[in-house]
Formats: sequence, C-alpha cells, structure tokens
Amino acid sequence: MGFGLFTPLSENVPGYTIKKLQVKSLFKSRDKTEVQEDKNTDTNILTEKWLEAKDSLIGGYADIIITRNGYTKLSDFKSGKILLDEGAIKEEYEDQLKLYAYLHNEVYRKYPDELSIIDLEKKEYLIAFTPQECKVLASKSRNALSEINSLIEMNELKALAKPDLNNCKSCLYRPACNFYWELTISETDSIFKDLRGNVANVRQFPNGNLNATLNTDDKELTVSHITNDYLPFLTNAVGKEVAFYNVKQGVKPESYQALKTTKIYEA
Ligand code: SF4
Repeated sequence: MGFGLFTPLSENVPGYTIKKLQVKSLFKSRDKTEVQEDKNTDTNILTEKWLEAKDSLIGGYADIIITRNGYTKLSDFKSGKILLDEGAIKEEYEDQLKLYAYLHNEVYRKYPDELSIIDLEKKEYLIAFTPQECKVLASKSRNALSEINSLIEMNELKALAKPDLNNCKSCLYRPACNFYWELTISETDSIFKDLRGNVANVRQFPNGNLNATLNTDDKELTVSHITNDYLPFLTNAVGKEVAFYNVKQGVKPESYQALKTTKIYEA
C-alpha cells in the first residue's frame, strides 16, 4: 500500500524499541483500567467512540470517554509532541478536543466535565474549555466545509490550494500538485529536498547505482545513489523534465543523494 519502505519498522523508525515499549505499556494500563472500572456499576468506559453532529457535517473518533458517577472525562492519545516550544499545548490539538466536546453534547446532550490529551509516557495535559468556544469552533468548521465545497463546485483549484513549506513538506500529493512548485523550494533549510530539471545524462556505476545530471534554468545538479530500478525510466527521460522527491543535500551545494524514500516522476 505504499508503506513498504518503512518496513521492517525496527530498521526504519527512529527510537523504535522505546516507542514500542511505551505503546505496549499504554495499552496494558488502559486494559487494566477497563477491568477494574467495569466492576463499578457507576462507571462507563467507551473507547474509539464515533461521535457525530446531528447534521452529520462534523464527526470524529474519541479515543476514550470515561464517565464515573456522572462525571465525564474525554481523552485523546497522542504519540507526537504535544507542546509548542514556548510550553503551550498545540492549538490544533486543543481545537480537536473542543470539537469532540461539542460532538459529545450533540450525541449525549451533555458536555464532558474534563478534556485531556495523554502522551506516550502517560503524562496527561488538561484542556480548559467552555461550551461557548466549542460551539464557535463547530460553526467555523461548518463554514470551512461549506466554503471548500463551493470552491470545489466552481473548480477554483487555485483558491483551494494553500502552498506552504510547513504543510507541503509532508504532503504526499506533492508530485501531483503544481501549486507546490510555486514555492521557493531551494530556500528551505531542510537537508531533504525535491528537485526538478531536464535530464542531461545518466551514468551507471559498477555496483549498479545510477548518477543523473539535471539541468535547471541556471544550474547543473547531480543526483547520486539512485537505484538501478530507475535505469529504463531515466534513460527514456533524457532531454525531458523530471522531478525527484525527497533527496538529501550532498556535500557540495549542487550535489544530491537519492534515498530509500526517493521517488522520481516525469514532471
Ligand atoms: S503539496 Fe499541494 S496539496 Fe499538498 S499541502 Fe502543498 S499545496 Fe496543498
């Protein structure tokens, strides 16, 4: 399904062993809580609970909702960084939980009493909220949905695209998105880059790896370490424009190295 390059996870995920242990421990503690709590008739636990607005325009899965003696806590598990550098909880995470609170009220006619985010170390971050701000967020979400739908109906692709290096760098639609290339990609300080240029020359080394030379408007770039699977494609592409996605900056400014995750397409 396109994720083959990440497997086996043990060889491709940084800090894999620690992450695996943390996730296992989180699951164990959750199961333990469920067993203990189930004996208490005043406690109800829902996991992976789908919540949906009455008009079905907003919906989402809440990771865990615990109601004990009428007091409801809704929590979401996150495996990544929860806080910004300045120590505040990421706004998008807060908004997500506040929307769950809104949806909880739509389904059960009651807002949760508490919202929280739990990280892999089981550290819990409480999120302050008011029903009013949850309603405002829901209204903004409906407006955004309606705006996006009308832009799609009018085929206003330019108004829909929001090219921004922060968003685009991890977007898997990059190869199909012309708006992305309007950004000044070369200015990114990441060592991982995407390149576009005319194939001038392809060389194969005795170990099978390929080296391609690309001409751009003002420079000549070289990409090394390309796997030989690309030999027929690149040979046919001589004189044509191609795009390399996810290459690594080499020692010299105009040299790049292909990685296991590099993909090459005709531009
Ligand atoms: S690459 Fe295109 S689709 Fe993806 S985030 Fe950027 S502008 Fe949007």
